[in-house]
Amino acid sequence: MATPHALAVIGVGKIARDRHLPAIAADPAFHLVATVDPHASVDGVPNYASLGALLADGRSIDAVSICTPPAMRAPIVLAAFEAGLHVMIEKPPATSLAEVEAMRSVAGTRTFFAAWHSREAAGVAPARAWLADKRIERVTIEWRENIRHWHPGQDWILAEGGFGVFDPGINALSILTAILPERVDLTAASIEVPEGRQSPLAARLEMRSGAVPIVATFDFLQLGEQTWTIDVETDAGSLSLRDGGKVLVVDGKSETGVNAEYPRLYRRFAELIEAGGSDVDDAPLRLTLDALARATRNKVEPFSW
Ligand code: NAP
Repeated sequence: MATPHALAVIGVGKIARDRHLPAIAADPAFHLVATVDPHASVDGVPNYASLGALLADGRSIDAVSICTPPAMRAPIVLAAFEAGLHVMIEKPPATSLAEVEAMRSVAGTRTFFAAWHSREAAGVAPARAWLADKRIERVTIEWRENIRHWHPGQDWILAEGGFGVFDPGINALSILTAILPERVDLTAASIEVPEGRQSPLAARLEMRSGAVPIVATFDFLQLGEQTWTIDVETDAGSLSLRDGGKVLVVDGKSETGVNAEYPRLYRRFAELIEAGGSDVDDAPLRLTLDALARATRNKVEPFSW
């Protein structure tokens, strides 16, 4: 077997601990040699307060997986490429398309992988295949979760560049743009921003893909049942992706696949490195930024944890 890629994880927060570290430990293509985080660390792994400090230490490293919030990601990506490293980043890739362009422009021959974990959910590839020869008539998205349960104390989500309810909502847009055969464009949007915060707690988007109307509702204050559903009506029956894409229901028949989103992302990262390729699709970010820029903005009551 080839020598594993020496990897550093940058940003040791919730998603790094819950999903990245187990996926890296299980993938023989990677060896975790360091972490970078101003406060957090992983037992038994050298930690550095910044990527600069890690590079200055002279440790041999091939690749980084960047799991910080999006607003602080671009300078880290640029520094990693300038140091000649392969880079995988969490979603959303950046806070603007200009930042994504800047990242692309310095990647050079290094692998640049902008991960969309929800696209790896078990139902997504079969949904794309099933829809390929159907006439799609309408798409309805309901993405409703409780911010207090899933993101306790993460004030960055409601700050500038945190994307608010689009932090989960962009996952729906990543699936949408993966399963529809044609480009998706925004036609109208409204958002609800709590007094004293910069990013929304709720959003409603109207989109089109060719002639297909798409409506998405994102809600960050959902109590009770949590809902991450995409319903597609076609000329040959209906398809529903539920539980964030893990469950596929076609004409009432349900299939639940194995949840392997992050192991699949690291497999893909390894394959891209080995092939000398990159994979950066900014379509979900473009829709999100369009919605935030063009939406009717309604102020709602202050939010506290
Ligand atoms: P989080 O729990 O707040 O963790 C982020 C970590 O990054 C924190 O430890 C933070 O340290 C650290 N950090 C901040 N600036 C840094 C820097 N310049 N260099 C190194 N580390 C830095 O956030 P999260 O929930 O893991 O989310 C991170 C990203 O993953 C987001 O883009 C999110 O959309 C994505 N994601 C999250 C989930 C989820 O369920 N949470 C699921 C999928 C994807 P401090 O706390 O000290 O600032």
